[in-house]
Amino acid sequence: MAEQTKIEWVDHTFNPWIGCTRVSPACDNCYAAAMSHRRKWARFEPRAPRRRTAPGNWQQPLRWNRKAEAAGRRAKVFGPSLADPFDAEVSPEWREDYLRLIKATPNLDWILLTKRPLVARKFFANRKVPDNLWPGITAENQAMLDLRAPHLLAIAARVHVVSAEPLLEALELDRYLPGIDWVIAGGESGPRARPSNPDWFRSLRAQCAAAGVPMFFKQWGEHGQDMRKVGRRLAGKLLDGEALRDAPVLSSRA
Ligand code: SF4
Repeated sequence: MAEQTKIEWVDHTFNPWIGCTRVSPACDNCYAAAMSHRRKWARFEPRAPRRRTAPGNWQQPLRWNRKAEAAGRRAKVFGPSLADPFDAEVSPEWREDYLRLIKATPNLDWILLTKRPLVARKFFANRKVPDNLWPGITAENQAMLDLRAPHLLAIAARVHVVSAEPLLEALELDRYLPGIDWVIAGGESGPRARPSNPDWFRSLRAQCAAAGVPMFFKQWGEHGQDMRKVGRRLAGKLLDGEALRDAPVLSSRA
């Protein structure tokens, strides 16, 4: 079992491109689509062009990497947050560029969450997954977990992540937990947020504890533990008064 540490969610967020297509219930209230629509970045529709971010933005992770190396402390990067890294409609060259960037930043651990793990599985079928690339899936309900987890676990990565956010029903993780290294969970944000039942998070906590898998509870979202809509700030980040902030760490540098 991986060594564990208590952390904040991530140190940095990186978007190599913007734009996507909704594929499952977790996408219903996609904040990236709403933000992108407001700012006219990209349309979140099938066959709509994705927008690559500026070259200067692509330089940032190189700076984060140098800083992490100088500090002697690995940093975590989440991204993309405004796209899906394994969106089949993205230019293959962009994804290759992204993989090159991840390989060039060995002091960063990259968390790439996807709702398209079959595309990821095919992408890595003839490529080595760098140790510092942690692929993950969104599992907002049991059907999506059962659909996505087998593809995730077929990827030969050092760390496999399941993100139960926004959690829309109870999950039975048990049969997958031997291959899962980190579970992240949380409620939904935004004006149309759906509430999560606290028992769903308690169940995940119990399953992870029994299996020795680190779990990170990010936030309640708009609804608090009593399922009333109170706003993110008041809803907070504690489950039964406890901060669940465990995460795996790589035992040596990638
Ligand atoms: S996969 Fe992610 S970025 Fe794409 S539409 Fe769904 S929630 Fe939004």
